[in-house]
Amino acid sequence: MVYLDHAATTPTAPQVRAAMEPYYNRRYGNASTPYEFGQMSREAVENARKTIADTLGAEPSEIYFTSGGTESDNWALKATMEAYSSFGRHMITTKIEHHAIGNTCEYLKKRGFEVTELPVDQSGRIFPEQLEYAIRPDTVLISVMCANNEIGTIQDMKAIGEIAKRRGVLFHTDAVQAYGHIPIDIAGWNVHMLSASGHKFYGPKGCGFLYMKQGLRTENMIHGGGQESGRRAGTENVPGIVGMAKAAQMSFSRMKETAEREQDLRDRFIHHICTEIPGAYLVGDFEHRLPGNVNICFQGIEASNLVLLLDEAGVCVSAGSACNSASAEPSHVLKALGMSDAQAYSCIRMTLGRETTAAELSYTLKTLKYLVKILKKG
Ligand SMILES: *Cc1c(COP(=O)(O)O)cnc(C)c1O
Repeated sequence: MVYLDHAATTPTAPQVRAAMEPYYNRRYGNASTPYEFGQMSREAVENARKTIADTLGAEPSEIYFTSGGTESDNWALKATMEAYSSFGRHMITTKIEHHAIGNTCEYLKKRGFEVTELPVDQSGRIFPEQLEYAIRPDTVLISVMCANNEIGTIQDMKAIGEIAKRRGVLFHTDAVQAYGHIPIDIAGWNVHMLSASGHKFYGPKGCGFLYMKQGLRTENMIHGGGQESGRRAGTENVPGIVGMAKAAQMSFSRMKETAEREQDLRDRFIHHICTEIPGAYLVGDFEHRLPGNVNICFQGIEASNLVLLLDEAGVCVSAGSACNSASAEPSHVLKALGMSDAQAYSCIRMTLGRETTAAELSYTLKTLKYLVKILKKG
């Protein structure tokens, strides 16, 4: 099998599984119990918190463990808007966010909050002037994803953060696709909150974190026991947390080499597709792009058919994002780029990972050439 869907999830690294194993087995103590057996779990959780904090240049007390990217996004938006509602009820986001942000905004709108969704240019980047213009006296929060999960476009985080800082607005970023893959600079970007998810960087599924800058007055997300400084109750997922920290450590220690290698493979793959397959063109931004992301529009082809035929040939790719593939709606991200429905239905996303080889990509290229020809005749 050729796996080209790393934006949907990544395999759990063997070293990560090995780090987790003891916490399913002989070290199963509850991290909130006072005896030494439980305190071994506490120590593992706090070491993991330190490891993750160090990758961001943050304080360990600013890292809150969650069940993943979706929960972190929900927490960041709901808890902030609620806590600051006496100050204002307006927030700003973009038209290309993941559903974890988009549907949370829909919920907030039903609760009487106002949300401005910024448009993007053809490559998927917002216009900083439009952000500036959208800020009102009652704007509490700006939430802009660092890198998009479908087209891989990376935003100008520094410019966005500068505006947020100058205008005194809180800044959250969904960095689920970015964390562990490209450098993140929370200080330079003036970020107050950042969401990440373990399974997007070779860690376990069902474990993520929210970075929350010291001093933020957000509401607590899950009410119960006193875990995560009382802000996110529930017995800690010790194996998950330990595994995620191991995965973070591995990703950050080899980030530059991994990114360069993936980017090199990516660029050659894109070049071959666009020059050898008639009607194929790259979607998104060439320069500001995640190292592993390839999104191609095959004019005149139904992407869902291509995905099925590629699957039969042993290649896993996706049409739109994993979360969209069950619905008949065209991708809101591709629509936001200005595509027609027909164009949006013709795009496939292929996302490379650190184990992807040149041989896998040349097999995929060969298969694509063949299938596109067949589908065009059909
Ligand atoms: C995967 C993803 C999420 C959701 O993360 P989960 O851990 O799967 O809940 C949120 N935002 C983006 C950009 C993602 O790619």
